[in-house]
Amino acid sequence: MKPEDEKGKIWFNGKYIDWWDAKIHLMSHVVHYGTSIFEGMRCYNTKKGSVIFRLNDHVKRFFDSAKIYRMDIPFTPDEIKKVCIDIVKVNGLKSAYIRPLVFRGYNTLGVDPTACPVEIAIGVLNWGAYLGEDAIKYGVDVRVSSWMRMHPNTHPALAKTGANYMNSQLIKLEAKIDNYAEGIALSSHGFVCEGSGENIFLVRNNEIFTPTIGSSILPGITRDSVFKIAREFGYEVKESVIPREMLYIADELFFTGTAAEVSPIRSVDKIVIGSGKRGPITEKIQRRFFDIVETGDDGDYGWLTFIE
Ligand code: PMP
Repeated sequence: MKPEDEKGKIWFNGKYIDWWDAKIHLMSHVVHYGTSIFEGMRCYNTKKGSVIFRLNDHVKRFFDSAKIYRMDIPFTPDEIKKVCIDIVKVNGLKSAYIRPLVFRGYNTLGVDPTACPVEIAIGVLNWGAYLGEDAIKYGVDVRVSSWMRMHPNTHPALAKTGANYMNSQLIKLEAKIDNYAEGIALSSHGFVCEGSGENIFLVRNNEIFTPTIGSSILPGITRDSVFKIAREFGYEVKESVIPREMLYIADELFFTGTAAEVSPIRSVDKIVIGSGKRGPITEKIQRRFFDIVETGDDGDYGWLTFIE
């Protein structure tokens, strides 16, 4: 958190409150068991004004995640969308990272959370490039994690829950200790899943591949955007089961995510990918993505919600 974030207001259970007043009790269910659902979206300061990228889709995923965990969000999707827009204005921001969070609060420490109230908050942060400015241009060095992503039917990967990020932390910490920017997790079957906070795409022989939605991945909204952008360039992204070694022999690799945006990968396990630089297809997709969020013109996609 930066000092400027801490001057801001947080929306908590229906009211805007000061940053430092946004507190919960230590004995809340979420603190002990990770009982939370969250979202992360960006507001970009485009040439046409500030826009939230794919607000409707993020709010949809928020409600989907909550449904999987039988958590009733005490506001409607339209109310949540309105707060996401308003909180950027309330905090006087032009660009921001918006973090809706719903969690089980204080009542019991039994595993059964039903007696614990469902509480909701939305906060905003100032946030730049996640993997660093250089990453966008030159790409990052990554490793295959020794940690797997969750086996299907354990922690559901399609739900964006706090607890899933314990697995992400193992992947990220291991990568960092060995000086890699990120780790790529495989599934319990040994196939490629995703980074700790990014989906992954692979280019080989002029075709684009990404793991299927059933590969223990988060259904990324940037991932979906890349499907559509790739189509503009005549590529139909193939969702497939991707063996680990396919990473090493790819012509191009890149991560996608709200935080990571579109970030090239230049090596995996010290094996150079393609030319070791951002590849031409990655660059085209990246350019188009940034063009949309810089100009504020997304053609007919309807991805941008203007703040004003
Ligand atoms: N996978 C994981 C594990 C993530 O945390 C994220 C970031 N939310 C993504 C993929 C990318 O999703 P999105 O493009 O919706 O940000």
